[in-house]
Amino acid sequence: MLCPFCRDDETKVIDSRSSQPYVIRRRRECLNCHRRFTTYEKIEESPLKVIKKDGTRVPFDREKIKSGLEKACYKRPVSDDQIEKIISDVEADVYSNFDREVPSRDIGEKIFNALRSVDQVAFVRFASVYREFKDVNDFVDELEPILRERLGR
Ligand SMILES: [Zn+2]
Repeated sequence: MLCPFCRDDETKVIDSRSSQPYVIRRRRECLNCHRRFTTYEKIEESPLKVIKKDGTRVPFDREKIKSGLEKACYKRPVSDDQIEKIISDVEADVYSNFDREVPSRDIGEKIFNALRSVDQVAFVRFASVYREFKDVNDFVDELEPILRERLGR
């Protein structure tokens, strides 16, 4: 591991911890310039597969969820930290509740629930992109509780 500041390759690990399943965060210190930096160690192959609507399986992809969330939160008052937290919560939930395979719908539901409490506009955007609504009534069913909250009933 090269120091990002001075490119020396002698570094020591001063702290390791696992904040998410399958990810280890290491705090390192360069033995040459003594500056500190953080590295993340991840399992390359996700052990979890997502079952899509058509029955095909794809690896669980954190980055895909992230880009979907970023689109939904575009120009909304949602910070990167909040997006990271939603993904980490969903990821932890999925890894602890499913063994090898998880239906894409379950992931969608978890994200909807997390996003709904963060930003309602982002939630509606995400819902309309992520989920293929069968007809307009499904969309209204989704919106109805939000509208009700907004009207304070
Ligand atoms: Zn250094």
